[in-house]
Amino acid sequence: MHVYAEYRENMPPSREQATLSGWMRRGSRLPAGMNVALRDWTSPICKDDARPLMPEKIALYGGSFNPIHHGHLIVARHIAEELQLDRLIFLPSAQPPHKPTGALAAAEHRCAMVKLAIEGEHAFQFSDHDLRDGPTYTIDTVAHFRQALGMDIILYWIIGSDSLVELTTWYRVRALVDSCRIVTAARPGWEQIDWNLLRSRLSEEQIAVLQSGVMDTPLMDISATDIRRRVRLGKSIRYLVPEKIRNYIDTHGLYKTDAGA
Ligand code: ATP
Repeated sequence: MHVYAEYRENMPPSREQATLSGWMRRGSRLPAGMNVALRDWTSPICKDDARPLMPEKIALYGGSFNPIHHGHLIVARHIAEELQLDRLIFLPSAQPPHKPTGALAAAEHRCAMVKLAIEGEHAFQFSDHDLRDGPTYTIDTVAHFRQALGMDIILYWIIGSDSLVELTTWYRVRALVDSCRIVTAARPGWEQIDWNLLRSRLSEEQIAVLQSGVMDTPLMDISATDIRRRVRLGKSIRYLVPEKIRNYIDTHGLYKTDAGA
């Protein structure tokens, strides 16, 4: 079942509705520490009545979330605050095009864990849009959300710096970089980004845009691979994932073998 209706219902008024009703998006204060290009991204737009209005800012956070962990959650919270996001939508993917499916837990479990992890965090939402059969390409997902949510929103796509260096292998990467604002979270082990790797497929302008989207997020040395490995070996995953997720993994016997569950 698609839960698009779920987040659609929670949408704030459109810009037209907002203008008509006098409702205004929050102030145009810029977060400290943002670089020039990111500031440009957050520039207020002015309607003809000269009142500042902010376009809605929505970030999409795709991944296998196998399982979701504190690395994802702390990075998401940091980015939501720094960019003053209205919404951040987690998109578990059925079959990440870049990853083997070996230890992938069933989609229903990964979704349940994402929903549990973001419970009570009003800016965080969940969508099952990327759970369709077959490989899901980010460019298609971005196009879907653009069309569904309107052209006047600012749309971000969140990745970790390990994914940034793999970007050249992504389907239609040039079009992707032009179609949304890619925000890169710092990840231990990938602090030094070799931009030359990206030059083979992207223009200097596109590289500059990607560089401006690199954010100084807390370095969280947590990976789903390590969590699965620890469960397999009977080691503790306490503090790596929220307690609710630790209990869920335990209750459903996930990750006890290489096959996920
Ligand atoms: P796995 O270990 O199975 O490869 P993962 O921990 O990398 O999984 P994913 O669900 O594949 O988790 O990650 C989704 C996105 O979140 C990716 O772009 C990844 O780079 C990013 N990400 C995951 N963990 C972190 C982390 N600790 N810090 C920053 N970014 C992260």
